[in-house]
Amino acid sequence: MKEFEEKIQKEGKVITNEILKVDSFINHMVDAALMEKLGQAIADHFKDQGITKVAAIESSGIAPGLMTAKALGLPMVIMKKQPSSILNNNLYETEVISFTKEVGYKLCVSKEYLSEADHVLIVDDFLANGEAATGAVRLIRLAHATIAGIAVLIEKSFQPGHDKLVSQGLDVFALARIGSLEDGKITFLD
Ligand code: 5GP
Repeated sequence: MKEFEEKIQKEGKVITNEILKVDSFINHMVDAALMEKLGQAIADHFKDQGITKVAAIESSGIAPGLMTAKALGLPMVIMKKQPSSILNNNLYETEVISFTKEVGYKLCVSKEYLSEADHVLIVDDFLANGEAATGAVRLIRLAHATIAGIAVLIEKSFQPGHDKLVSQGLDVFALARIGSLEDGKITFLD
């Protein structure tokens, strides 16, 4: 998506050869109008596939997940990182290794909001090593629901997440695919 790539090029900050900061429009401040268009583009790709719910990974998946859910006319379920005491033990839970923080965390979802009747689209901001998305896939499988695919705003295609997910037969869709962040330069793939 051209407009999105231009925004990333203009406002994205290359922190290392592996990490891109997009805090001014995705991760800290959100460009709501752009996010609405991104959600619509994801919805257009996955429409007519019998999806029943959008699952967003907390916290940066929520903005794109919500816009996608709105465009599809579906509810969004948040896969939570901190189980609250009110969620108690009626949960599906799995352990995920965080890319940015290099520590493990628990991803969980209430058994009330996912069931075997669901066909779920997972939405997140970035795809890097694919750990977060794989954790979301595990939660959906624990609920015996099916997976329509994984949509991300930005895929860092030089990292292994894409291939890891595709090799499991999953449909991976990214609105921007970055081939390299070397030398402080953002290079997109076609
Ligand atoms: P993965 O689990 O695919 O290794 O990493 C995906 C998660 O890590 C995303 O949910 C995202 O929040 C975070 N992440 C991975 N790479 C980047 C990056 O380059 N920049 C930012 N801001 N977050 C990232």
